[in-house]
Amino acid sequence: MFFLNNFCMTQIIRIFASMKHWIMKYPKSIFVSLVMCLLTAVAHGQPLEKGVPQKLAIQRASQVSNVEYALTFSIPAKKSEPVRGHATICFDWNGMGDVVLDFQGEHNQFDGKCTIVNKKNIEAKKVRRMETFAAFTNEHIIIRKQYLTVGVRNTIHLDFTSSDKSLNRNDEYMYTLFVPDHARSVFPCFDQPDMKATFKLTLEIPTDWKAISNGAAMSNVVENGRRTIEFSESDLLPTYLFSFTAGKFASMTADCNGRQVEALYRETDAKKIAQLPVVFDEIALSLKWLEEYTGISYPFQKYGFVVLPGYQFGGMEHPGAIQFNDKRIFLGEKPTPDEELSRLELIAHETSHMWFGDLVTMRWFNDVWTKEVFANFMASKIARERFPDINHDLNFLKTYQTLAMKTDRTLGTHSIQQPLANLNGAGLLYGNIIYDKAPVMMQKLEEHMGAVALQNGLRKYLSVYSYGNATWDDLITILDAVKPEAMLKEFSHVWVKEKGMPIIEVKATDKQITLTQKDPYGRGLIWPQKFTLVAGNEMERNRLVTVDMSERTFTISTKKHPTLLIPNYNGKGYGRFVIDRTYIHELTKRLLSTKNDLTRYAIALTLYENYLNGVYDKDYFTELFRTLKKERNPLVASALCDHMHQFAIDQEPRLRQRLEGFMLDIVKGSPLPSCRQNMLRLLAADATSTEVLDYLYRTWKLQDDALLNERDYINMSYHLAIMRPAEWANIISTQRGRLKNQDVIREYDYVSRACNPSLSEQRSLFHSLMLRQNRTVEPWVQNTLRLLSCQAREPQNNEFITPGLEVLEEIQQTGDIFFPANWVNALLSGHKSKEAKQLVNEFINTHSSYPKALKNKIMEAAYGVLRTKD
Ligand SMILES: [Zn+2]
Repeated sequence: MFFLNNFCMTQIIRIFASMKHWIMKYPKSIFVSLVMCLLTAVAHGQPLEKGVPQKLAIQRASQVSNVEYALTFSIPAKKSEPVRGHATICFDWNGMGDVVLDFQGEHNQFDGKCTIVNKKNIEAKKVRRMETFAAFTNEHIIIRKQYLTVGVRNTIHLDFTSSDKSLNRNDEYMYTLFVPDHARSVFPCFDQPDMKATFKLTLEIPTDWKAISNGAAMSNVVENGRRTIEFSESDLLPTYLFSFTAGKFASMTADCNGRQVEALYRETDAKKIAQLPVVFDEIALSLKWLEEYTGISYPFQKYGFVVLPGYQFGGMEHPGAIQFNDKRIFLGEKPTPDEELSRLELIAHETSHMWFGDLVTMRWFNDVWTKEVFANFMASKIARERFPDINHDLNFLKTYQTLAMKTDRTLGTHSIQQPLANLNGAGLLYGNIIYDKAPVMMQKLEEHMGAVALQNGLRKYLSVYSYGNATWDDLITILDAVKPEAMLKEFSHVWVKEKGMPIIEVKATDKQITLTQKDPYGRGLIWPQKFTLVAGNEMERNRLVTVDMSERTFTISTKKHPTLLIPNYNGKGYGRFVIDRTYIHELTKRLLSTKNDLTRYAIALTLYENYLNGVYDKDYFTELFRTLKKERNPLVASALCDHMHQFAIDQEPRLRQRLEGFMLDIVKGSPLPSCRQNMLRLLAADATSTEVLDYLYRTWKLQDDALLNERDYINMSYHLAIMRPAEWANIISTQRGRLKNQDVIREYDYVSRACNPSLSEQRSLFHSLMLRQNRTVEPWVQNTLRLLSCQAREPQNNEFITPGLEVLEEIQQTGDIFFPANWVNALLSGHKSKEAKQLVNEFINTHSSYPKALKNKIMEAAYGVLRTKD
């Protein structure tokens, strides 16, 4: 009753009318608390908030239990026709208050037919019109408590029409993607992670469609021109993990460690389809590895997956029906080692979720990062087994630390764990801090307490909370008991609950080297961590010292002033290492001469960080160029390419064009194919010099570069069409003519419109993106916006900045979880001008009440443009 809105008064009158009866029936204390509760609600006039407020979630989880859903959806072939469904929701009720279901439809999307059955005796069932016992308000259906019964199963039947928001409907297929709280846009439910339920699904689909869901297909019947598939009841799942995909798909089944794994896909290229056996192998490896590590057999009834074109994530961990992005699974003809590793990591990531996230789920989405950190952490371990020849410490540094720092150095950074008052804001929690900084923290936690102790703690956590929910603090309590001397609560506070990274200043005198950590936000925090440092001079040979930063400062005695300092020698240190200019030159020389790949990468990171902070500028590009020409390690080379690219785009146009010429030399002359490929891709995205554009044009026209694939040529065609407006129509039609796959052609037709040189066309395209109905395939939208907002079109495209930022709140409400960040990145990352910087600053200054998490995303995306010198 706390959550009533316009039904409040009727309800109050009814309750007061029955008071006499209550006083007789219940102890006085219950009566008093109910009245108090009611009076509080009246006094505050609290309407039931939209979305899923945490307050509602906590109240509901204690009130309703043992939930079962039986759901039927009728999916028409035409995406213009609505999806209708029927839900039967069964639950136990504790007798305390009205029961609130979530349903994010418009009034007219709720068909109003609803019955309730809650007596053991079928004759006593109450069948009424919906209005009699329930109210539909602010995205909720409120079932009035006088129609519910304690001690028996309460069953509610509802007919409804689903909103298309999370059905991802395409011409020949559709898929549901409900994380974090989008199930409620498709059917009425208790849409919160700690109300796990079973789902019994029936789908009615066109006869030439296939379908996959969490349970196995038990019956599959064609009748009256429609196909009906009944799936077995799912295991216990939160609503965000319930899912189904249906459409025109090809399928393949394989045996993975004695388990039949089914794959659905739309790919038509035989060479790509031939990669599926590798995917099955990697699934089998991941499953075996996780069963051994956790000591728990695969916890769900089936494993299956679907590979989707235009998919907005890399993957999603619905048990039995994992969804993968086709670009991440079906690699181009000549995949780089990075791409192959990244595919395995994706497969291992989603498979790890079966234990971390699916078997044990966070209680609330503020802890969504816990499932992500374990999925990434386990994926890294599995990758070590699958690709033993790769330097995984180096890969970890490149994959996680680099991206974590990319966000952590911006003003948009935040703590790993963030508060979340309503699930409708959960999407904003995602980003590099969750996906990349959390694994850095986890690696430190493992070092801090020991790998075996951590594994034992995790096994206990998974078994105590199996098929249930747990918070990060629940896990820390278990780990703390396993190893009390590790002081994990303090560790967790700094690394998990506070934002930012330490600034570690390294100073040297004749007698000592001092490392001092500073908190960039002045809170006096200390980040406990260990890493190694190398110092040397002509008297003392190079010394390797382990630095323990559990205190504010760490000192190392020396006999003489060192001439060489490599502050983060093993790359295990996380933070901004600040060194004196006097050491930069020597450090730069080591970038070329050090044999250890990991150290070279760590040096490159230190130099880059010092460059970004204005400590190092002169000769930086030249040194990178000299090093890169000789670099043999693909991961180090790829970082150096990025750093050169960043330096080049930071320069004024004439210098930038000259530097692009040097980058082209790398493309032509590097001994390392992946380095050539990386550099070519960077240039193909934003090159400005005539020399480079001519080279790109020739390459694109002849399509004779063995290192490039169709996707590369598509991207090149976009950039070339923008840079050569007179030829744009010809370039686009030539590229379109080369495409074979219908899904790729559809995407190309959508995105390539952004290449049109006519300003009025660009304006009308941009304004069409302001409308939600034109943003259904988010990766396409993102690419289109990125092209519309590219630097080459400054200053005319600056006019898109303010409206593009203004629509962000709506994007967050209507789009998928990664979309707000992707949108604002596409909008801002190309801009470099002072005017653009001013527009962003103006927006931030005039929107002081903008949601903090959303503002953080803007500040993060604006990092590049905000660095522009006034
Ligand atoms: Zn994940």
